[in-house]
Amino acid sequence: MEIFGIYGASGFGREVMPIFKATNVPERSDRRYVFVDDDEELGDTVNRTTRISQREFLEFDAIEKTLAIAIGDVKIRKRIAQVFSKKQIKWGSIAAPSSTVLHDVSIGEGAILCSNTILTSNIKIGVHFHCNLGSYVAHDCVIGDFVTFAPNVMCNGNVIIGDNVYVGTGVIIKNGTRAKPLVIGDGAVIGMGAVVTRDVPTDTVVVGNPAKPLPRKTP
Ligand code: UDP
Repeated sequence: MEIFGIYGASGFGREVMPIFKATNVPERSDRRYVFVDDDEELGDTVNRTTRISQREFLEFDAIEKTLAIAIGDVKIRKRIAQVFSKKQIKWGSIAAPSSTVLHDVSIGEGAILCSNTILTSNIKIGVHFHCNLGSYVAHDCVIGDFVTFAPNVMCNGNVIIGDNVYVGTGVIIKNGTRAKPLVIGDGAVIGMGAVVTRDVPTDTVVVGNPAKPLPRKTP
């Protein structure tokens, strides 16, 4: 038996499973596709695909297990990836037929490229990248591990993004230059619709146009 899992049977997972099935080997009696999700309330089947728990996936008797984590939240995705780090599984990468990858793009394992996404040229991306519907990454960008682009993110050229960064829907990131790339630090969160015109410090939430840090809440 071979098993192909999508971790997360919520919104994003249900969007990604049809792409996974359509772009991968066909299902047959000794090859199964499953959702891996720990929420019992979802039932045993989600969108006509069997749902099993993390434990059941780990214990499943299969010669090969392939898994992709379709959970947008950066911290949850990283935590789940760590659980599997020493297990005998292969990370699956998923690319919608309408996604485009041009020249000299290196991309780590576990990536999910949704429909109408574009990665142009001379780009380096870490592991478990999510590029949701219609987002693009332009030339000479470097993106770290566990980065999520929500739908319609426009990341222009010469931008450096650290690890564990969440970029919300419709964000525009201004281009940097070869001499001075625009840098978004590790753990930053870019709020929906923000226009990022300058560097974003590590672990900072920015919102608005031009994007500015959210004032910290006073206790
Ligand atoms: N989930 C899980 N185990 C965890 C954390 C999350 O099975 O340790 C599942 C959770 O039950 C939910 C999905 O992952 O079904 C995450 O869904 P959410 O709507 O938060 O994410 P999205 O689909 O929007 O990325």
